[in-house]
Amino acid sequence: MVVEEREVMEVDVLFVGGGVASLSSALHLSRLIKEHNKKVEQEGKGESLDEVMIAILEKGAYVGAHSISGAVIDPVSLRELIPDYQERGAPIEGEVKGEEVCFLTETGKIKAPFIPPPLNNHGNYVISLSKLVEWMGELAEEMGIDIFPGFSATEVLYEDGKVVGVRTGDKGIGPDGEKKANYEPGIDLKAKITVFGDGSRGNLTKELIKRFNLDSGRNPQNYVVGVKEVWEVPEGRIEPGYVIHTMGYPHKSETYGGGFIYGMKDNHVSVGLLTGLDYKDPYIDPHMEFQKFKSHPLVAELLKDGKIVQYGAKTVPVGGYFAIPKLSFDGGVIIGDAGGLFISQKIKGVHVAMKSGMLAAETIFNALIKSDFSENMLSSYDRSLLESSVGEELYKSRNFHQTFKKGLWSALIRSGIQYVLGGKIIKSRLESEPDYISLKKVKDYYGTDNPTDEQKRVIKFDGKFTFDKETDVYYSGTTHEEQQPPHLKIADLNICFTKCKEEYQNPCQRFCPANVYEIEVDEDTGEERMKLNFSNCLHCKTCDIKDPYEQINWVPPEGGGGPKYTRM
Ligand code: SF4
Repeated sequence: MVVEEREVMEVDVLFVGGGVASLSSALHLSRLIKEHNKKVEQEGKGESLDEVMIAILEKGAYVGAHSISGAVIDPVSLRELIPDYQERGAPIEGEVKGEEVCFLTETGKIKAPFIPPPLNNHGNYVISLSKLVEWMGELAEEMGIDIFPGFSATEVLYEDGKVVGVRTGDKGIGPDGEKKANYEPGIDLKAKITVFGDGSRGNLTKELIKRFNLDSGRNPQNYVVGVKEVWEVPEGRIEPGYVIHTMGYPHKSETYGGGFIYGMKDNHVSVGLLTGLDYKDPYIDPHMEFQKFKSHPLVAELLKDGKIVQYGAKTVPVGGYFAIPKLSFDGGVIIGDAGGLFISQKIKGVHVAMKSGMLAAETIFNALIKSDFSENMLSSYDRSLLESSVGEELYKSRNFHQTFKKGLWSALIRSGIQYVLGGKIIKSRLESEPDYISLKKVKDYYGTDNPTDEQKRVIKFDGKFTFDKETDVYYSGTTHEEQQPPHLKIADLNICFTKCKEEYQNPCQRFCPANVYEIEVDEDTGEERMKLNFSNCLHCKTCDIKDPYEQINWVPPEGGGGPKYTRM
């Protein structure tokens, strides 16, 4: 076998994924190194850390292209990382001064008489994560951090069982795996420490968890998928920073999740729906549920005479404290969403991701000083995270998601008591199971193999308020090089046309918010085939999580492909 020569590039610290956790970490590390060197110079003792090369790999076409969140952020971590963030022009859409929580029935709403404490956002900020990340990317470049957008990390590199970097994906491979004229082999990026910030259900983090058994003794991770649009609405419709959270419609009480409406600057509004991926109904389609949400009078009135500006989707890890894997190993650490660091009770992950990045940076700084990149050294990051303010928040709401297993009403009561008492009633771990297990077979859920559209709660899209997936994908700016192998790897296509069809009626066609999976019938032969519209993929990873046979593996497509978010 001929082993292909690859370019090798060496850096000191490599960040995989250019999201908010990685940028916070890189900025903090760069500052720690500068302060240390200044001190050494002033005091004339100790050794300076000269020319430490910090690099960030980002699979999106630009920094921020794949960053998407609600989002209302608690500014605590932003303030700590960049104390003069306002003077430096941080893109804040509005400070939260008004908010409400509503329970929705199909056509009405019941406004909560008070804001439940975990959802109290007074003084927090509505932001667009893609804008914030783009801004942080500029600050990172000013600090001399090297950012490489348009590069997917496809493999972890190991030497003697230790992580030593990553390989980037080859470019110019045709649909059948042949090298095209523009073929360029990926490069090997080697680092003393590799930081994995590859997001919710990160493909490389998934591999690391398995290889190093990082989830041993922990709960399996659970996720929600958030589907969201940004609209421009007539002037005065909603104040920037105004926040509405909803429960109830369109979700049944057995389904975890809820809606959000956040007022942004320039008469824009962010509207979205979170759907827990531990849902049971095989006919749930999170994109369609979101379209129903927009049809509710509360949302429809707000959007009336407005126009859609952008669309996107992402998953978020909600398993909580007991589902956080070990975050360190020889040669690397995991940060942000990739590590399952999200506080589902507060619907917040941005300040947690930032703080995890900063704490990782402190550990990395000490590792650089001691030239020790072992698991033993790096595990101080796990400890400092759990002892930090965000560790405390995670611990306090440690069983939040698990309390929803018995439905919304039971959960509201149990989680409310838990919050008031700081998690003291259910102290120990409530068990959970992976999301794909909860999906029921069509016959078991509906009592028939042929549920009606009414039973399935299907709606028609009007093209004005409600859109089909293709139309929505257009507003995400998503593109991929068409002439490449599909990046959704289905282990055994036969299962799709046999067991999956009979038992679940191919739920991939519904749970994917971008219409990537389409089952077509060949007109001539009458045979079914899977048409993968991979070019639509929003990189949300829902398919990798929810497929009932666990046979879909999401791998990174050629770098630069995917959504092009600017306001999400
Ligand atoms: Fe999300 Fe998978 Fe669909 Fe891509 S193919 S948009 S990752 S569900």
